[in-house]
Amino acid sequence: MITQRLNYKSGDQLSARSILIWRIVQTAVWLVGAVILTCLLFYPTLGVLLYWNILIPVAPALFVLAVGVWRNVCPLATTTLLPRHLGFSQRRKLSVKQLGMLNLAAVIALFVIVPLRHALFNNNGVATGIMIIAMAVIGVTMSFFFEWKSAWCSSLCPIHPVEKLYGGNVLFKVPNAHCDNCMKCVTPCPDSTQNVHPKSSVKTDHQKISAFLIIGGLPGFIWGWFHVPDETQLTSISAFFSVYEMPLIGLAVTLTIYAVLSSIIQQRYERKLISFFAASGVSCYYWFRIPSLFGFGKFATDGLLVNLRDVMPGWSITAITVATTAFFFYWLVAHKKNKKSWLIRPEFGNKDKPLVQKLSA
Ligand code: SF4
Repeated sequence: MITQRLNYKSGDQLSARSILIWRIVQTAVWLVGAVILTCLLFYPTLGVLLYWNILIPVAPALFVLAVGVWRNVCPLATTTLLPRHLGFSQRRKLSVKQLGMLNLAAVIALFVIVPLRHALFNNNGVATGIMIIAMAVIGVTMSFFFEWKSAWCSSLCPIHPVEKLYGGNVLFKVPNAHCDNCMKCVTPCPDSTQNVHPKSSVKTDHQKISAFLIIGGLPGFIWGWFHVPDETQLTSISAFFSVYEMPLIGLAVTLTIYAVLSSIIQQRYERKLISFFAASGVSCYYWFRIPSLFGFGKFATDGLLVNLRDVMPGWSITAITVATTAFFFYWLVAHKKNKKSWLIRPEFGNKDKPLVQKLSA
């Protein structure tokens, strides 16, 4: 099925042709996601390579440069928004308090799930596949009740806090290929707000805490995460939970630094501080991730994509990581904010009127 808008009043509305193109791209990326999920479940070694060592390493850079593209084609988003696209959603609106609670739950879920990669997911494709299916089930279920991306993509998705931190100065914005009309399901809409960041219009205590945790905690959390090896044989419960130790120590350290700095700097520099922590997080990720992808990692084959140790000199990997760090600090901190949102907001819609008409593909 494809959906087509009934009205085309402004340049912000996609033409039927553009919608068709986006639907084709979404379907293609969804199929790629389905193939990866199938591999995770039935060919775990290949699935782990495709998911953890190819798809996921690309994501942070994509969040920095064009997170809107990702949000248009993410297979999990396409899946969770299916009830809304097909007209099965009750389209309820979350209260500000509910949204804040889900935002905080997303940050906590991120900090709980990511260390489990060392204990379980990095070496277990089936477990990774089950985790993805569980997230899809939760997202689809929520989508039966709640309007557009408030059901998952802008609330409970554990990746969303990272998108909000890294996506503060995107290179380009694209049309919104999911919401046919804006129903103001989340305020502010992360997709439609210029240079959005985790503290953009925080209203509730839950939102304040989640913003504080993700901005201040993520850089140290990432640093700590890369100092834990993948466990291949967990012998005890304490060994299982030991994978949390370094990430949480790192999180506590940078969170404290952020708390101190944000309490002493002038209000007008706060945005800069958030950008600095965003750049620190994404730079730290690639500082460790690029070497491990190409055989120069701290822990032998952990996170290995292709071993180039005998092909590339060590200094070339160092040069690449220095260059990526320089780029992210330039782009996120030094570069002027370009007043772009991730996506172009579609026309506002009226909940009482039918907005879409289903057509056979
Ligand atoms: S564009 Fe409007 S309908 Fe779509 S996610 Fe944003 S607020 Fe919700």
